Amino acid sequence: MNKNEMFRMIPKIDILLKQEGIKELAEEYGRQALVGVLQEILEDLRTEAAEYAGQGNVQKGAGEIQQMLLRLPAEVHDRLQRLFRPEMIPVVNGTGTILHTGLGRAPLGEKASLRGGKVAGTYTNLEYDLNTGERGERCSHFERLLCRITGAEAALAVNNNAAAVLLILSSLACGGEAVVSRGELVEIGGKFRIPDVMELSGARLRETGTTNRTRLSDYENAVNEETKVLLKVHTSNYRIVGFTESVSLEELCALGKQKGICVAQDLGSGVLVDLSRYGLQNEPTVQASVSAGADVVCFSGDKLLGGPQAGIIVGRKCFLDRMKKHPLARALRIDKFTAAALEQVLLEYLNPEQAVKNIPVLRMLTRPADEVRRDAEMLTEEIRRNIANKSGGIETQITVEPCTSRAGGGALPGEEIDSFAVCILPGQISAAELQRRLRTMPVPVLGRIVRDRFLLDMRTVDGRDREYLAELFSREELFAPGVFPVTGENERPDQKKGNRL
Ligand SMILES: *Cc1c(COP(=O)(O)O)cnc(C)c1O
Repeated sequence: MNKNEMFRMIPKIDILLKQEGIKELAEEYGRQALVGVLQEILEDLRTEAAEYAGQGNVQKGAGEIQQMLLRLPAEVHDRLQRLFRPEMIPVVNGTGTILHTGLGRAPLGEKASLRGGKVAGTYTNLEYDLNTGERGERCSHFERLLCRITGAEAALAVNNNAAAVLLILSSLACGGEAVVSRGELVEIGGKFRIPDVMELSGARLRETGTTNRTRLSDYENAVNEETKVLLKVHTSNYRIVGFTESVSLEELCALGKQKGICVAQDLGSGVLVDLSRYGLQNEPTVQASVSAGADVVCFSGDKLLGGPQAGIIVGRKCFLDRMKKHPLARALRIDKFTAAALEQVLLEYLNPEQAVKNIPVLRMLTRPADEVRRDAEMLTEEIRRNIANKSGGIETQITVEPCTSRAGGGALPGEEIDSFAVCILPGQISAAELQRRLRTMPVPVLGRIVRDRFLLDMRTVDGRDREYLAELFSREELFAPGVFPVTGENERPDQKKGNRL
Protein backbone atom coordinates (compact mmCIF):
# COMPACT_ATOMS: atom_id res chain seq x y z
CA MET A 1 0.00 0.00 0.00
CA ASN A 2 1.33 3.41 -0.93
CA LYS A 3 0.25 6.92 0.04
CA ASN A 4 -2.11 7.40 -2.92
CA GLU A 5 -3.81 4.10 -2.31
CA MET A 6 -4.39 5.08 1.30
CA PHE A 7 -6.00 8.37 0.26
CA ARG A 8 -8.15 6.55 -2.31
CA MET A 9 -9.65 4.50 0.54
CA ILE A 10 -11.45 7.65 1.67
CA PRO A 11 -14.81 7.46 -0.12
CA LYS A 12 -16.50 10.21 -2.15
CA ILE A 13 -19.45 11.91 -0.53
CA ASP A 14 -21.99 10.82 -3.21
CA ILE A 15 -21.15 7.20 -2.51
CA LEU A 16 -21.66 7.70 1.22
CA LEU A 17 -25.01 9.42 0.63
CA LYS A 18 -26.24 6.21 -0.98
CA GLN A 19 -24.83 3.92 1.67
CA GLU A 20 -27.18 1.79 3.75
CA GLY A 21 -27.37 3.12 7.33
CA ILE A 22 -26.37 6.62 6.26
CA LYS A 23 -28.90 7.54 3.55
CA GLU A 24 -31.80 6.99 5.97
CA LEU A 25 -30.41 9.74 8.22
CA ALA A 26 -31.39 12.36 5.64
CA GLU A 27 -35.04 11.71 6.45
CA GLU A 28 -34.66 12.56 10.11
CA TYR A 29 -32.06 15.30 9.97
CA GLY A 30 -32.35 16.66 6.42
CA ARG A 31 -29.93 16.31 3.54
CA GLN A 32 -28.09 19.55 4.21
CA ALA A 33 -27.06 18.65 7.74
CA LEU A 34 -26.13 15.13 6.65
CA VAL A 35 -23.90 16.41 3.86
CA GLY A 36 -22.30 18.89 6.26
CA VAL A 37 -21.47 16.22 8.80
CA LEU A 38 -20.13 13.85 6.13
CA GLN A 39 -17.88 16.61 4.81
CA GLU A 40 -16.52 17.19 8.32
CA ILE A 41 -15.78 13.51 8.80
CA LEU A 42 -14.07 13.19 5.41
CA GLU A 43 -12.03 16.30 6.15
CA ASP A 44 -10.94 14.78 9.48
CA LEU A 45 -10.04 11.54 7.72
CA ARG A 46 -7.92 13.36 5.12
CA THR A 47 -6.10 15.31 7.83
CA GLU A 48 -5.40 12.12 9.68
CA ALA A 49 -4.27 10.32 6.54
CA ALA A 50 -1.90 13.19 5.73
CA GLU A 51 -0.39 12.89 9.21
CA TYR A 52 0.23 9.18 8.81
CA ALA A 53 1.69 9.81 5.37
CA GLY A 54 3.98 12.46 6.85
CA GLN A 55 5.22 9.95 9.41
CA GLY A 56 5.72 7.36 6.66
CA ASN A 57 3.22 5.18 8.48
CA VAL A 58 0.88 4.41 5.59
CA GLN A 59 0.06 0.90 6.75
CA LYS A 60 -1.20 2.10 10.11
CA GLY A 61 -3.13 4.95 8.45
CA ALA A 62 -4.90 2.53 6.15
CA GLY A 63 -5.87 0.41 9.14
CA GLU A 64 -7.31 3.41 10.95
CA ILE A 65 -9.32 4.48 7.91
CA GLN A 66 -10.63 0.95 7.52
CA GLN A 67 -11.76 0.93 11.16
CA MET A 68 -13.41 4.30 10.81
CA LEU A 69 -15.31 3.27 7.67
CA LEU A 70 -16.73 0.30 9.54
CA ARG A 71 -18.26 2.46 12.24
CA LEU A 72 -19.11 5.34 9.89
CA PRO A 73 -22.94 5.10 10.12
CA ALA A 74 -22.77 5.17 13.93
CA GLU A 75 -20.33 8.08 13.89
CA VAL A 76 -22.49 10.08 11.47
CA HIS A 77 -25.57 9.43 13.57
CA ASP A 78 -23.73 10.39 16.73
CA ARG A 79 -22.52 13.67 15.24
CA LEU A 80 -25.96 14.53 13.88
CA GLN A 81 -27.54 13.87 17.27
CA ARG A 82 -25.07 16.17 18.95
CA LEU A 83 -25.51 18.82 16.27
CA PHE A 84 -29.26 18.92 16.82
CA ARG A 85 -29.08 18.96 20.61
CA PRO A 86 -29.20 22.39 22.33
CA GLU A 87 -25.94 23.29 23.98
CA MET A 88 -27.45 25.68 26.50
CA ILE A 89 -29.04 23.47 29.14
CA PRO A 90 -30.21 23.68 32.74
CA VAL A 91 -27.56 22.90 35.36
CA VAL A 92 -27.69 22.20 39.09
CA ASN A 93 -25.95 25.01 40.97
CA GLY A 94 -24.24 23.57 44.02
CA THR A 95 -21.64 26.34 44.19
CA GLY A 96 -23.48 28.35 46.83
CA THR A 97 -23.09 31.52 44.74
CA ILE A 98 -26.64 32.76 44.31
CA LEU A 99 -26.06 35.29 41.53
CA HIS A 100 -23.53 33.24 39.57
CA THR A 101 -22.56 35.20 36.45
CA GLY A 102 -21.40 32.07 34.65
CA LEU A 103 -24.71 30.37 35.41
CA GLY A 104 -26.95 33.15 34.16
CA ARG A 105 -27.16 35.28 37.32
CA ALA A 106 -30.73 35.32 38.72
CA PRO A 107 -32.79 32.19 37.95
CA LEU A 108 -36.23 33.48 37.00
CA GLY A 109 -38.26 30.70 38.52
CA GLU A 110 -41.15 28.95 36.90
CA LYS A 111 -43.84 31.58 37.15
CA ALA A 112 -41.93 34.45 35.55
CA SER A 113 -40.27 32.34 32.87
CA LEU A 114 -43.57 30.70 31.90
CA ARG A 115 -45.17 34.13 31.75
CA GLY A 116 -42.38 35.41 29.48
CA GLY A 117 -42.65 32.33 27.30
CA LYS A 118 -46.43 32.52 27.10
CA VAL A 119 -46.51 36.14 26.02
CA ALA A 120 -43.52 35.88 23.68
CA GLY A 121 -44.90 32.75 22.08
CA THR A 122 -47.86 34.58 20.63
CA TYR A 123 -49.10 38.05 19.67
CA THR A 124 -49.33 40.43 22.59
CA ASN A 125 -50.27 44.03 23.41
CA LEU A 126 -46.59 44.93 23.84
CA GLU A 127 -46.96 48.33 22.16
CA TYR A 128 -50.69 48.41 21.63
CA ASP A 129 -53.11 50.22 23.91
CA LEU A 130 -56.15 47.97 24.23
CA ASN A 131 -58.26 50.84 25.63
CA THR A 132 -57.77 53.23 22.74
CA GLY A 133 -56.77 50.85 19.98
CA GLU A 134 -53.74 53.04 19.35
CA ARG A 135 -49.99 52.60 19.59
CA GLY A 136 -48.97 51.91 23.19
CA GLU A 137 -45.76 51.96 25.21
CA ARG A 138 -43.46 48.96 25.63
CA CYS A 139 -42.57 49.84 29.21
CA SER A 140 -46.05 50.93 30.31
CA HIS A 141 -47.00 47.47 31.57
CA PHE A 142 -44.46 47.47 34.35
CA GLU A 143 -43.97 51.22 34.69
CA ARG A 144 -47.13 51.41 36.80
CA LEU A 145 -45.72 48.72 39.10
CA LEU A 146 -42.26 50.27 39.41
CA CYS A 147 -43.79 53.65 40.29
CA ARG A 148 -46.07 52.11 42.88
CA ILE A 149 -43.31 50.00 44.45
CA THR A 150 -40.52 52.60 44.47
CA GLY A 151 -42.50 55.84 44.79
CA ALA A 152 -40.93 57.24 41.61
CA GLU A 153 -42.83 59.34 39.02
CA ALA A 154 -41.76 57.39 35.97
CA ALA A 155 -39.86 54.26 34.96
CA LEU A 156 -38.18 52.60 32.01
CA ALA A 157 -36.21 49.44 31.32
CA VAL A 158 -33.37 48.77 28.86
CA ASN A 159 -31.13 45.81 28.04
CA ASN A 160 -29.09 45.83 31.27
CA ASN A 161 -27.83 48.20 33.92
CA ALA A 162 -24.72 49.05 31.91
CA ALA A 163 -27.07 50.21 29.14
CA ALA A 164 -29.09 52.15 31.72
CA VAL A 165 -26.02 54.10 32.86
CA LEU A 166 -25.11 54.75 29.22
CA LEU A 167 -28.59 56.00 28.40
CA ILE A 168 -28.74 58.24 31.48
CA LEU A 169 -25.40 59.88 30.72
CA SER A 170 -26.04 60.11 26.97
CA SER A 171 -29.42 61.75 27.34
CA LEU A 172 -28.69 63.98 30.34
CA ALA A 173 -24.97 64.79 30.27
CA CYS A 174 -23.75 64.53 26.64
CA GLY A 175 -21.55 67.48 25.79
CA GLY A 176 -21.33 68.50 29.45
CA GLU A 177 -19.71 67.23 32.61
CA ALA A 178 -20.75 64.56 35.07
CA VAL A 179 -19.23 64.73 38.54
CA VAL A 180 -18.22 61.43 40.22
CA SER A 181 -16.30 60.80 43.45
CA ARG A 182 -12.88 59.16 42.97
CA GLY A 183 -14.02 56.54 45.47
CA GLU A 184 -16.83 55.49 43.14
CA LEU A 185 -15.10 55.07 39.78
CA VAL A 186 -15.95 51.41 39.81
CA GLU A 187 -15.26 48.53 37.51
CA ILE A 188 -17.88 45.81 37.49
CA GLY A 189 -16.72 42.52 35.98
CA GLY A 190 -16.98 42.15 32.22
CA LYS A 191 -15.44 45.47 31.14
CA PHE A 192 -18.02 47.80 32.65
CA ARG A 193 -16.02 50.78 33.93
CA ILE A 194 -17.61 54.07 34.84
CA PRO A 195 -14.93 56.21 33.08
CA ASP A 196 -15.32 54.19 29.86
CA VAL A 197 -19.10 54.38 29.85
CA MET A 198 -18.78 58.10 30.50
CA GLU A 199 -16.55 58.56 27.48
CA LEU A 200 -18.87 56.53 25.28
CA SER A 201 -21.83 58.69 26.31
CA GLY A 202 -20.18 61.91 25.21
CA ALA A 203 -20.15 63.28 28.76
CA ARG A 204 -16.89 64.47 30.31
CA LEU A 205 -15.93 62.88 33.59
CA ARG A 206 -15.18 65.37 36.34
CA GLU A 207 -13.54 63.43 39.16
CA THR A 208 -13.74 64.81 42.64
CA GLY A 209 -12.47 63.98 46.14
CA THR A 210 -10.03 61.14 46.75
CA THR A 211 -10.26 57.36 46.74
CA ASN A 212 -11.09 57.10 50.44
CA ARG A 213 -12.56 60.51 51.26
CA THR A 214 -14.96 62.75 49.38
CA ARG A 215 -16.74 65.67 51.05
CA LEU A 216 -19.67 67.81 50.01
CA SER A 217 -17.24 70.71 49.44
CA ASP A 218 -15.48 68.54 46.81
CA TYR A 219 -18.72 68.28 44.85
CA GLU A 220 -19.38 72.02 45.32
CA ASN A 221 -15.93 72.86 43.97
CA ALA A 222 -16.35 70.53 40.98
CA VAL A 223 -19.60 72.12 39.84
CA ASN A 224 -19.43 74.71 37.03
CA GLU A 225 -21.60 75.90 34.09
CA GLU A 226 -20.79 72.69 32.24
CA THR A 227 -22.06 70.37 34.98
CA LYS A 228 -25.07 68.36 33.87
CA VAL A 229 -25.22 65.47 36.32
CA LEU A 230 -23.98 64.62 39.80
CA LEU A 231 -23.53 60.84 39.62
CA LYS A 232 -23.37 58.61 42.65
CA VAL A 233 -22.30 55.01 42.05
CA HIS A 234 -22.92 52.23 44.53
CA THR A 235 -19.65 50.42 45.24
CA SER A 236 -21.36 47.08 44.66
CA ASN A 237 -18.43 44.72 44.65
CA TYR A 238 -16.01 46.29 47.12
CA ARG A 239 -15.89 48.25 50.35
CA ILE A 240 -13.57 51.07 51.28
CA VAL A 241 -12.86 50.73 54.99
CA GLY A 242 -10.68 52.61 57.46
CA PHE A 243 -10.12 56.38 57.15
CA THR A 244 -13.06 57.12 54.93
CA GLU A 245 -15.67 59.77 54.30
CA SER A 246 -18.38 59.98 51.72
CA VAL A 247 -21.33 62.21 50.96
CA SER A 248 -24.79 60.84 51.64
CA LEU A 249 -27.34 60.79 48.85
CA GLU A 250 -29.49 63.25 50.85
CA GLU A 251 -26.66 65.78 51.03
CA LEU A 252 -25.89 65.38 47.35
CA CYS A 253 -29.56 65.83 46.43
CA ALA A 254 -29.72 69.01 48.50
CA LEU A 255 -26.71 70.33 46.55
CA GLY A 256 -28.27 69.29 43.25
CA LYS A 257 -31.50 71.06 44.12
CA GLN A 258 -29.68 74.23 45.16
CA LYS A 259 -27.67 74.33 41.91
CA GLY A 260 -30.42 73.00 39.65
CA ILE A 261 -28.38 69.93 38.62
CA CYS A 262 -29.75 66.43 38.14
CA VAL A 263 -28.61 63.87 40.71
CA ALA A 264 -28.39 60.33 39.34
CA GLN A 265 -27.52 57.16 41.20
CA ASP A 266 -26.29 53.85 39.83
CA LEU A 267 -27.45 51.48 42.56
CA GLY A 268 -26.05 48.36 40.92
CA SER A 269 -28.11 45.60 42.41
CA GLY A 270 -31.28 47.44 43.27
CA VAL A 271 -33.09 45.74 46.12
CA LEU A 272 -36.80 46.37 46.50
CA VAL A 273 -37.16 44.81 49.97
CA ASP A 274 -35.30 45.64 53.16
CA LEU A 275 -32.87 42.73 53.51
CA SER A 276 -31.63 43.77 56.97
CA ARG A 277 -34.86 42.26 58.29
CA TYR A 278 -33.46 38.89 57.23
CA GLY A 279 -30.10 39.32 58.90
CA LEU A 280 -28.27 40.50 55.79
CA GLN A 281 -26.20 43.68 55.69
CA ASN A 282 -27.98 46.81 54.73
CA GLU A 283 -27.97 46.88 50.93
CA PRO A 284 -29.64 50.21 50.07
CA THR A 285 -33.14 49.90 48.63
CA VAL A 286 -34.39 51.69 45.55
CA GLN A 287 -37.20 53.15 47.67
CA ALA A 288 -34.64 54.78 49.98
CA SER A 289 -32.86 56.41 47.03
CA VAL A 290 -36.11 57.75 45.62
CA SER A 291 -37.23 59.16 48.94
CA ALA A 292 -33.77 60.66 49.56
CA GLY A 293 -34.54 62.79 46.50
CA ALA A 294 -32.50 61.21 43.70
CA ASP A 295 -33.75 62.47 40.33
CA VAL A 296 -32.78 59.28 38.53
CA VAL A 297 -31.92 55.83 39.91
CA CYS A 298 -30.83 52.81 37.88
CA PHE A 299 -30.27 49.16 38.80
CA SER A 300 -30.11 45.64 37.38
CA GLY A 301 -33.16 43.47 36.80
CA ASP A 302 -31.26 40.23 37.34
CA LYS A 303 -29.25 40.84 40.46
CA LEU A 304 -30.95 40.94 43.86
CA LEU A 305 -34.25 41.95 42.25
CA GLY A 306 -34.38 38.41 40.91
CA GLY A 307 -35.88 39.18 37.50
CA PRO A 308 -34.80 38.92 33.87
CA GLN A 309 -31.73 40.68 32.49
CA ALA A 310 -32.63 44.36 32.32
CA GLY A 311 -31.50 47.79 33.38
CA ILE A 312 -34.26 49.58 35.20
CA ILE A 313 -34.40 53.36 35.47
CA VAL A 314 -36.82 55.15 37.79
CA GLY A 315 -37.07 58.83 38.61
CA ARG A 316 -38.55 62.18 37.68
CA LYS A 317 -40.78 62.21 34.65
CA CYS A 318 -39.00 65.16 32.98
CA PHE A 319 -35.70 63.23 32.90
CA LEU A 320 -37.26 59.88 31.99
CA ASP A 321 -39.09 61.55 29.08
CA ARG A 322 -35.76 62.76 27.70
CA MET A 323 -34.38 59.22 27.93
CA LYS A 324 -37.42 57.67 26.27
CA LYS A 325 -36.96 60.02 23.29
CA HIS A 326 -33.23 59.39 22.92
CA PRO A 327 -32.24 57.20 19.92
CA LEU A 328 -30.28 54.91 22.26
CA ALA A 329 -33.54 53.98 24.01
CA ARG A 330 -34.51 52.17 20.83
CA ALA A 331 -31.12 50.57 20.41
CA LEU A 332 -31.08 49.35 24.00
CA ARG A 333 -34.72 48.37 24.41
CA ILE A 334 -35.90 45.14 25.99
CA ASP A 335 -37.88 42.51 24.12
CA LYS A 336 -41.35 41.19 24.86
CA PHE A 337 -40.11 38.14 26.76
CA THR A 338 -38.22 40.36 29.18
CA ALA A 339 -41.07 42.85 29.49
CA ALA A 340 -43.55 40.14 30.41
CA ALA A 341 -41.20 38.34 32.81
CA LEU A 342 -40.25 41.61 34.49
CA GLU A 343 -43.89 42.54 34.95
CA GLN A 344 -44.55 39.14 36.53
CA VAL A 345 -41.64 39.48 38.97
CA LEU A 346 -42.65 43.01 39.91
CA LEU A 347 -46.19 41.81 40.63
CA GLU A 348 -44.67 39.74 43.45
CA TYR A 349 -43.28 42.88 45.05
CA LEU A 350 -46.79 44.25 45.61
CA ASN A 351 -46.67 41.87 48.56
CA PRO A 352 -43.09 42.00 49.88
CA GLU A 353 -43.49 39.08 52.33
CA GLN A 354 -44.63 36.91 49.42
CA ALA A 355 -41.85 38.23 47.18
CA VAL A 356 -39.23 36.91 49.58
CA LYS A 357 -40.83 33.46 49.36
CA ASN A 358 -41.68 33.37 45.65
CA ILE A 359 -38.68 35.00 43.96
CA PRO A 360 -35.93 32.36 43.78
CA VAL A 361 -33.03 34.74 44.47
CA LEU A 362 -34.67 36.19 47.57
CA ARG A 363 -35.83 32.78 48.75
CA MET A 364 -32.32 31.34 48.54
CA LEU A 365 -30.79 34.43 50.12
CA THR A 366 -33.10 34.48 53.11
CA ARG A 367 -33.45 30.75 53.79
CA PRO A 368 -32.44 29.98 57.38
CA ALA A 369 -29.30 27.83 57.61
CA ASP A 370 -31.25 25.20 59.57
CA GLU A 371 -33.55 24.68 56.64
CA VAL A 372 -30.59 24.26 54.29
CA ARG A 373 -29.10 21.76 56.74
CA ARG A 374 -32.31 19.72 56.68
CA ASP A 375 -32.11 19.60 52.87
CA ALA A 376 -28.49 18.46 53.03
CA GLU A 377 -29.35 15.77 55.58
CA MET A 378 -32.28 14.51 53.54
CA LEU A 379 -30.20 14.23 50.39
CA THR A 380 -27.39 12.50 52.26
CA GLU A 381 -29.88 10.01 53.71
CA GLU A 382 -31.39 9.30 50.31
CA ILE A 383 -27.99 8.71 48.73
CA ARG A 384 -26.96 6.35 51.54
CA ARG A 385 -30.23 4.45 51.27
CA ASN A 386 -29.83 4.10 47.50
CA ILE A 387 -26.28 2.88 47.90
CA ALA A 388 -27.28 0.37 50.59
CA ASN A 389 -29.81 -1.11 48.17
CA LYS A 390 -27.07 -1.88 45.68
CA SER A 391 -24.96 -4.98 45.76
CA GLY A 392 -21.44 -3.72 45.23
CA GLY A 393 -21.26 -0.81 47.61
CA ILE A 394 -19.13 2.26 47.02
CA GLU A 395 -16.12 3.42 49.00
CA THR A 396 -17.40 6.95 49.17
CA GLN A 397 -17.83 9.05 52.28
CA ILE A 398 -20.84 11.31 52.30
CA THR A 399 -21.36 13.80 55.13
CA VAL A 400 -23.13 17.06 55.88
CA GLU A 401 -20.80 19.97 56.59
CA PRO A 402 -21.24 23.66 57.34
CA CYS A 403 -20.08 26.05 54.61
CA THR A 404 -20.67 29.63 53.46
CA SER A 405 -22.72 30.81 50.52
CA ARG A 406 -22.32 34.15 48.76
CA ALA A 407 -24.70 36.51 47.01
CA GLY A 408 -22.31 36.94 44.06
CA GLY A 409 -22.97 39.10 41.02
CA GLY A 410 -21.22 41.99 42.73
CA ALA A 411 -23.93 42.25 45.37
CA LEU A 412 -23.47 42.20 49.15
CA PRO A 413 -19.64 41.99 48.93
CA GLY A 414 -17.97 40.26 51.84
CA GLU A 415 -21.27 38.95 53.17
CA GLU A 416 -20.81 35.35 54.21
CA ILE A 417 -24.06 33.48 54.50
CA ASP A 418 -24.07 30.43 56.77
CA SER A 419 -25.04 27.33 54.86
CA PHE A 420 -24.67 23.57 54.68
CA ALA A 421 -23.25 21.30 52.02
CA VAL A 422 -23.36 17.66 51.11
CA CYS A 423 -19.69 16.79 51.23
CA ILE A 424 -18.36 13.92 49.15
CA LEU A 425 -14.99 12.23 49.52
CA PRO A 426 -14.64 9.67 46.74
CA GLY A 427 -12.56 6.61 47.58
CA GLN A 428 -11.12 5.71 44.19
CA ILE A 429 -10.96 8.92 42.19
CA SER A 430 -9.94 12.46 43.09
CA ALA A 431 -12.45 15.15 43.99
CA ALA A 432 -11.32 17.03 40.87
CA GLU A 433 -12.16 14.01 38.71
CA LEU A 434 -15.57 13.73 40.38
CA GLN A 435 -16.13 17.42 39.72
CA ARG A 436 -15.25 16.91 36.04
CA ARG A 437 -17.58 13.92 35.72
CA LEU A 438 -20.47 15.78 37.31
CA ARG A 439 -19.87 18.72 34.98
CA THR A 440 -20.28 16.53 31.90
CA MET A 441 -23.54 14.83 32.89
CA PRO A 442 -26.61 15.44 30.67
CA VAL A 443 -27.84 17.59 33.57
CA PRO A 444 -24.52 18.93 34.88
CA VAL A 445 -24.00 19.33 38.62
CA LEU A 446 -21.61 22.08 39.70
CA GLY A 447 -19.95 22.35 43.06
CA ARG A 448 -16.82 23.49 44.85
CA ILE A 449 -13.74 21.59 45.94
CA VAL A 450 -12.57 22.27 49.46
CA ARG A 451 -9.62 20.30 50.88
CA ASP A 452 -9.95 17.64 48.20
CA ARG A 453 -13.59 17.01 48.89
CA PHE A 454 -16.48 17.86 46.60
CA LEU A 455 -18.99 20.23 48.21
CA LEU A 456 -22.56 20.68 47.06
CA ASP A 457 -23.89 23.79 48.81
CA MET A 458 -27.59 23.08 49.26
CA ARG A 459 -28.59 26.75 49.55
CA THR A 460 -28.55 27.14 45.78
CA VAL A 461 -29.90 23.68 44.95
CA ASP A 462 -33.57 23.54 44.05
CA GLY A 463 -35.49 21.05 46.23
CA ARG A 464 -36.94 19.51 43.09
CA ASP A 465 -33.46 18.37 42.02
CA ARG A 466 -33.04 16.21 45.10
CA GLU A 467 -34.38 13.05 43.54
CA TYR A 468 -32.09 13.42 40.53
CA LEU A 469 -29.09 14.04 42.78
CA ALA A 470 -29.91 11.11 45.05
CA GLU A 471 -30.06 8.82 42.03
CA LEU A 472 -26.94 10.28 40.43
CA PHE A 473 -24.76 10.06 43.55
CA SER A 474 -25.66 6.44 44.10
CA ARG A 475 -24.39 5.32 40.69
CA GLU A 476 -21.32 3.19 41.11
CA GLU A 477 -19.77 4.22 37.79
CA LEU A 478 -19.67 7.84 38.95
CA PHE A 479 -16.99 6.92 41.48
CA ALA A 480 -15.28 4.10 39.61
CA PRO A 481 -11.70 4.50 38.40
CA GLY A 482 -11.02 4.42 34.67
CA VAL A 483 -12.61 6.08 31.70
CA PHE A 484 -15.80 8.07 32.24
CA PRO A 485 -18.38 8.39 30.77
CA VAL A 486 -18.50 4.85 29.51
CA THR A 487 -20.74 5.61 26.51
CA GLY A 488 -19.60 9.05 25.34
CA GLU A 489 -23.25 10.07 25.49
CA ASN A 490 -22.61 12.86 27.94
CA GLU A 491 -20.02 14.78 26.02
CA ARG A 492 -20.85 18.10 24.49
CA PRO A 493 -19.92 18.84 20.86
CA ASP A 494 -17.29 21.45 21.83
CA GLN A 495 -15.43 18.92 23.93
CA LYS A 496 -15.43 16.35 21.19
CA LYS A 497 -14.24 18.73 18.49
CA GLY A 498 -10.66 18.15 17.48
CA ASN A 499 -10.65 14.61 18.82
CA ARG A 500 -8.93 12.17 16.54
CA LEU A 501 -11.21 9.73 14.84
C1 LIG B 1 -23.75 45.23 38.17
C2 LIG B 1 -23.57 46.70 38.07
C3 LIG B 1 -23.63 47.34 36.82
C4 LIG B 1 -23.87 46.58 35.55
O1 LIG B 1 -25.14 46.02 35.55
P1 LIG B 1 -25.53 44.92 34.42
O2 LIG B 1 -26.96 44.67 34.66
O3 LIG B 1 -24.64 43.76 34.67
O4 LIG B 1 -25.26 45.56 33.11
C5 LIG B 1 -23.44 48.69 36.79
N1 LIG B 1 -23.19 49.39 37.91
C6 LIG B 1 -23.10 48.81 39.13
C7 LIG B 1 -22.81 49.65 40.33
C8 LIG B 1 -23.30 47.43 39.25
O5 LIG B 1 -23.21 46.84 40.44
